[in-house]
Amino acid sequence: FNVPTVTNEPVNSYAPGTKERALLEAAIQEARAQEVDIPMYIGGKEIRTEDKGKLTPPHDHQHVLGYYHKGTKTHVNQAIDAALAAKEYWENLAWEQRAAIFLKAAELASTKYRYKLNAATMLGQSKNAYQAEIDAACELTDFLRFNVSYMTEIYAQQPPANSKGIWNRVEQRPLEGFVFALTPFNFTAIAGNLPACVAMMGNVVVWKPADTQIYSAKVLMDIFNEAGLPDGVINLVYVFGPDAGEVIFKHPDFAGIHFTGSTGVFQDIWKTIGQNIHQYKTYPRIVGETGGKDFILAHPSADLAVLNTALVRGAFEYQGQKCSAASRAYVPQSLWSDLRAKMEQDVASFKIGGTEDFGNFINAVIDEKAFDKITSYIERAKNSADAEVIIGGEYDKTKGYFIHPTVILAKTADYETLSEELFGPVLTIYVYEDAKWSETLELVDKTSIYALTGAVISQDRYAIEEATKALRNAAGNFYINDKCTGAVVGQQPFGGARGSGTNDKAGSMINLLRWVSPRTIKETF
Ligand code: GLU
Repeated sequence: FNVPTVTNEPVNSYAPGTKERALLEAAIQEARAQEVDIPMYIGGKEIRTEDKGKLTPPHDHQHVLGYYHKGTKTHVNQAIDAALAAKEYWENLAWEQRAAIFLKAAELASTKYRYKLNAATMLGQSKNAYQAEIDAACELTDFLRFNVSYMTEIYAQQPPANSKGIWNRVEQRPLEGFVFALTPFNFTAIAGNLPACVAMMGNVVVWKPADTQIYSAKVLMDIFNEAGLPDGVINLVYVFGPDAGEVIFKHPDFAGIHFTGSTGVFQDIWKTIGQNIHQYKTYPRIVGETGGKDFILAHPSADLAVLNTALVRGAFEYQGQKCSAASRAYVPQSLWSDLRAKMEQDVASFKIGGTEDFGNFINAVIDEKAFDKITSYIERAKNSADAEVIIGGEYDKTKGYFIHPTVILAKTADYETLSEELFGPVLTIYVYEDAKWSETLELVDKTSIYALTGAVISQDRYAIEEATKALRNAAGNFYINDKCTGAVVGQQPFGGARGSGTNDKAGSMINLLRWVSPRTIKETF
């Protein structure tokens, strides 16, 4: 059985003068010229309510992108009913038919909808053109195509051994019930993939996006619908506060959650599921990618240019709002002053502003809550004897939620920003004595409460080996001489353990296997 070969979607540069640049600019203009009305989607129907939420770009409070219709517990119940009603038809459809729908969705996302989806991600989530391209256009398409190939592999697996007069087989059943997809703002690709890969395996889904990603979530839903997804397979609701959870986690048919978001929310959900466990027909699948406090560890042999690039790109791309972002670094004394000069120079060259101007590298952080949290850490660092703000530190929320790329020098190894997740453009550096490499390895492991990504920068093969071993459990994605962000689907399956989640690797067979419940059948002749 041949599993199809899949290749990654090529990334457009959007260099001035290119056709793609003109198409993306036109899509941004078109989006800015209208206010969209965004309904919920339940059982294939567009649902509108009187209670509307306003969407504005995080970098431009004055502009209105549109309004979405908020739901209540009633809508969550309706979404569950619609999902369960669609279940029989969907799970009995040949898997090749389900695959075709998601391949078509990938085709639409990478062609007809490419610029619209990127423009929505740029305006709604304040990503620059390149960050939107690698996320919405490319990573989403890659998730859909690679997952279809992994799905093909699952359904094509060798059956178990037979013996004379006995035929054994394993059937990959969809889960018994519905799955809840709870998705984050920071990647349009993740928002699309969490419900899509669950549905691909024959499941029905209730999908609740972050309230800050609704603008591009609508485009994702348009894509799924145009690709031919039957009514009720994925139901999109905007119900916030405790309401959605109160209905979903008490429902007897709740069969699993596919989550990306904060560690605290995930832990609360896990507790609630535990408390309600006797109410469910089956043990729900709990799959989550949560926080990160990702490290870059430099060895004294590190190449300075490689280290600098890993730090500034890893820490500041998309304003540090990636779970994988480099938010703490351990740098040997011997490299520190040269590194500091290089970083100062690079950061000074970053332009800051709205995403409509393609020259801006740094855009706004997602909302006021994030802005206030990040800037409170910056203020505390300015006033602390244990830290010094050495680059950036300025911020302004008059026009949008802008925070300058900031570097904090921590004078103690337990300074708060070396262990707490800020989810913003703030990098904390701890400088260690060159002779204390082994102690630093221990320190990094001990302080990795989260364990999503991490990197070692070194030209010494022995040191690379030591770090790889000592930090075995400190990162689910470990990089050698590279930044710790930008995992590519099909190349670096993504996810971490400890406080960072269940490590079910987004974009992998491991993940897809969580969404089936195998049945073994033995037939005797
Ligand atoms: N997969 C992304 C990366 O490698 C990060 C995903 C996330 O922030 O959740 O940068």
